[in-house]
This record gives sequence, structure tokens and C-alpha cells, in this order.
Amino acid sequence: MKSSDFKAYLSAYHNEVTGSRILLGISFPDGKEYRLLIDCGYFQEVQYRYLNYVDDLDPTTIDAILITHNHIDHTGLLPKMVKQGYRNPIYMTEITKELLPRFLMDSADQQEDNAKYLQDKFPGDEWKFNVLYHRENVDRTIKLCRGVKYQKTLEILPGVKVTFFVNGHILGASMILVQCTAYSRKPLNFLFTGDYRLKNPFYKVPELPNWLKKMELIMVHESTYGTTDSSNIKVCFKRHLLEGFERGQDILIGAFAQARMQEILFELKKMQDEGLIPEEYKIYVDGPLGIKTNLAYEEILKTFSPENSNFMPKDIQIVDPRSRDNFFSLEGKKILITTSGMLSNGPAKNYVPMFIERENAMIHLTGYAAEETLARNLLDAKRAETIQIGSKPYQKRAVIKTTREKTSHATRDEMLGFINQFTNIVFLAVNHGASEVESDFEETILSQCPRIQRVDILNRDYVYCIYQFGNEEDKFSNVIVKRMPAKMQVLSPKDRNYRKQKQKQKRKSRHEERVMKKAAKRKLKQKNQF
Ligand SMILES: [Zn+2]
Ligand SMILES: [Zn+2]
Repeated sequence: MKSSDFKAYLSAYHNEVTGSRILLGISFPDGKEYRLLIDCGYFQEVQYRYLNYVDDLDPTTIDAILITHNHIDHTGLLPKMVKQGYRNPIYMTEITKELLPRFLMDSADQQEDNAKYLQDKFPGDEWKFNVLYHRENVDRTIKLCRGVKYQKTLEILPGVKVTFFVNGHILGASMILVQCTAYSRKPLNFLFTGDYRLKNPFYKVPELPNWLKKMELIMVHESTYGTTDSSNIKVCFKRHLLEGFERGQDILIGAFAQARMQEILFELKKMQDEGLIPEEYKIYVDGPLGIKTNLAYEEILKTFSPENSNFMPKDIQIVDPRSRDNFFSLEGKKILITTSGMLSNGPAKNYVPMFIERENAMIHLTGYAAEETLARNLLDAKRAETIQIGSKPYQKRAVIKTTREKTSHATRDEMLGFINQFTNIVFLAVNHGASEVESDFEETILSQCPRIQRVDILNRDYVYCIYQFGNEEDKFSNVIVKRMPAKMQVLSPKDRNYRKQKQKQKRKSRHEERVMKKAAKRKLKQKNQF
């Protein structure tokens, strides 16, 4: 390698689906170096939550942060970074900048409970889990945020250009292109898909430009639905509601405050327009963050996608928190949309006990139900079984329904179609999926995306060193990628499974090292033969 070549390293701080944080270090041929962080998310998975409290990255070494979209598992550690000294810009789309503050404030409000949860879980190690950040840290964070227009290329550091492309995951979501350029050298380009979906009920997702599809790219690609095809997802939400109406059931719909709640309201409005909602039904909504986000959506859509800005159903009523306990004395048969999506937080905690013991009621989930959530308990319990909610037991009499059709992620077939539009991906790093899904998806890409030169998994275990040896005029690829074990793995001493996994990974990387050494020896031998 010449000293005048580009070098980069790519590593991640997350293991599976939540806690998205990717570090991209770039060394330019002239010697300058930058460190970019792509997303700065909070770990929500129970087994990784302790990682939020580990200081594994010095914020003062980061030159810029890029945010793909406004989900806490992609933004929730930003205030911690700022609290610990980060002072450089945080780039995101203008819409994400608009939505971000109230979600970070909400996260700050939960930090006390979050710390308490881990203190209880790890007795003896309580000192490790202090409140991560407060509202004032969020205020400082917001001051560093810069809103960027879609498709407008911006040079954020000398030789580093970024472009945000429209992504259907949620309103404001993006895919981010990072282009590193130096005089007469071939550029080094990275595309971070973030979480993505190819369509959105509120706005059109334009095709990516052809120049991008032809560009020599290193792609970091999500894999949440890496083993689920579109044909595995039953479209049943509307049918479930119609059946509920026919039986005269009161219906509770659990929804995430952002995207899911608005998409459900939009669907209800369409059903209303078609005359499918019987007159005796009244639509109620509860959840302060969701209600604020409904208003924000209306405002943003007025300019971003005006034809769908009027998505709220007619005569919808916001439940006054003081009348939650008397909800069933309110007018009419009920359709209630409330947060949180997994029912463990927000007003859902008040409503589930009221609905669960009613014979003629339906609780409809509209997304993933993680372990240790009320949604998961409801799904797992049999009819008439007793469920513990808070300190009280309840008998499950209501019908529980769920659907995956409202997912905001692309399915496996859609992802493969997406990847196969690109003609020059030199390295594809799979991330943001459950471990076994990531491995499975990696195999799928290898067998179904013949143009991809190399595929691997990006998580806390590995660092990828990337060398760009090419000159501007080179027609062929001169990128070399080497995988090394990462040193940042932090273990929870209490987690036996995790320890086992780590030992397995250690063995795997030792094995790989041996294979690489052997290959290098072989190469040397061949060289000496000529
Ligand atoms: Zn997301
Ligand atoms: Zn995510």
C-alpha cells in the first residue's frame, strides 16, 4: 500500500436490531483523518440494555454525526454523547430535525425508570447504572442538529460529501450516501440504507438515481426482515376490524407514537370514507406523544405530501387523561388507538386491564412484540388464562389479534430486488437484524445477488479495514476489505448465554485468523515460484 491511498475503517457498536451506531473512520491520501458516526441509537433489547451505560466511544473524537431517521434506537444516545462532550454538527433531514426533539425529551423523561430497571436486574452492580441524561442535555443536542434537504449534496468536511435520499421507513427517513474524494484518486463511497421500506402510505418514494446505482459502493444494509418474504405477511387488519364491528366488539389498537399511529388513523379514515365503520362506533385516541406527532405529521405533510395531509378520521376524540378510568362510560362503541405499541408503557397500561376481561372486546397489536412486554404476554396467554398486569391478576377474555402488514421494513424479496439494482457494490455489510436472521440473509445475498463482490456482517465483533488503491481513471475496482476482530466487545458479567456466544465468536475469529494466515502464506509461496 502507498501512503497516498485512501483507507477507511467501518465498525459498529450494536449487536442486533437496536442500538444502531456505526463508526466510519477515513484516512485521506494527504494524511487528514475524520471519524463519522452514523446513527447514535439506544439499546432497547432487554439483553443489551446495559450497553447504554458502557462508555465505549470518546465523543470528542467524532467530527460529525449523521442520523438516518427519528427512531430512538437510532437517536437515543445523542444526548449522552453531548453530555460527554460532543460539540460538532449532527446532520439529518429537515423533517427528522422537526420530529426529533419531542422524542428525545420523552426518552430523557424515561431515563430514571430505565436506570432503576437495570439496578434491580443487576444487584451489586447498581453503581454502573445512573441516569444517562436529562432534558437539558437534550436541549444542547437540539442546538447541534442541522436539517438537510433530500437529494441535496453537502460537503460536511473537506473531501466528505453527504446526500440524504428519500426512504419509505417513516416520515423524514433517509438513506445516506457518504462520498470521500481526493484529487486524482478514485473516491470511496458508502451508502447507509438505515431502516428502509420501499413505499410509504403518506408519500411517494422516488427511485434512486441511476448514477447512484452505478457507483462503486460499500453498502451497509439492514436485515430486520431478512428471512420474511412479502408472501409470508398476511394482510388482515381491515378484515379483523370488520369482523369486530360485526360482533359489536370494543376495539383497542396498540400503536407506536410515530408512523404506526398515523398510518392506522389514515386507514381508519379511508374505511370511514368507504362507509365501512358503523355509526355506533366512535374513534378515540390517547397518548400524548402520539397526539403531538399526529399534529406534526399534518403540518409536515402540508408541504411534503399535501394530498395526504388530511389523514385524520372525522369526529375523532382525544381522551382526557382524567377520564381514562371511566373510558367505558364515554359515548358509543369504541375504537381506541393508543400508545405504546407493545402496551407496556403509556396509557395502554390503563386501558388493557379494562379491555382484557371483556368477552366482547378485541385488542389489536400492530407491530413486533418484544420479550417481557405486555403485548408479548397477551399473545402468549391462552383464553381464560390469568395474566399479571402491574400487581393485579386479570383473566384473558378479550380476543387478541396481531398483524405484520404495518411493518415499516422491506421484506426479504423487496431487499433483494433493491440490492440487485446496484451494479457495483464492492462490499455489502449486513446489519440491523437478529443474529440468525443476519447470517441467513448473508447466505441469501451470496446465492441471489451475483454481482455483489463481498458480503459480511457488521456488529460489535468486527472492524473492516477498507483500502482504495484506485486512480480516478481506473475502470476496475481496486478496493480491498479486511476483517479484524473488534476490541470493543463489552460483556455483562451476569449474562451466561452472552458469554457462551462470545466464546464462540472468539473461536470463530481465531479460526479465521488461521485461515487468513494460511492464505497469505500460500500467496507468498506462489509469488516466490515466479
Ligand atoms: Zn427505524
Ligand atoms: Zn432500527
